Amino acid sequence: MHEIGIVRAMAKTVTDYAEANGIDKVAEIVLDIGELSLVIPEYVEELYAPVVQGTFLEDTKLIINIVPGMAVCDNCDDVFNVVEHEGYCPNCGSFDKEVLSGQEFLIREIHVDEAEEGEEETEAAAEEKSEA
Ligand SMILES: [Zn+2]
Repeated sequence: MHEIGIVRAMAKTVTDYAEANGIDKVAEIVLDIGELSLVIPEYVEELYAPVVQGTFLEDTKLIINIVPGMAVCDNCDDVFNVVEHEGYCPNCGSFDKEVLSGQEFLIREIHVDEAEEGEEETEAAAEEKSEA
């Protein structure tokens, strides 16, 4: 189970980002986890609380957004869901494809709980590549 390392790295990235930007409290973290990323969202969710316990992120809510694993068929250009069709094109049966989405694990947004500044978001906080 490699999720623990991923959760720790994610928490550190958010903490570093908050420190660099003078943020004292993060309300929510929104993660994008691709269906094809080999990261299991349930594990991330489960591990998050113990990892952030007693830290700056203890009261921060984690929101996980699952990104569907989509691919385009090299043979017929059909776009299909890789998980649903077990990697094969449902139109022509080819296994040759280019994955379009679903391999990501990234921090999509960091919501800051600060009345005077309102909501702050970041897109480029971090991208964690899972071993493929
Ligand atoms: Zn096809």
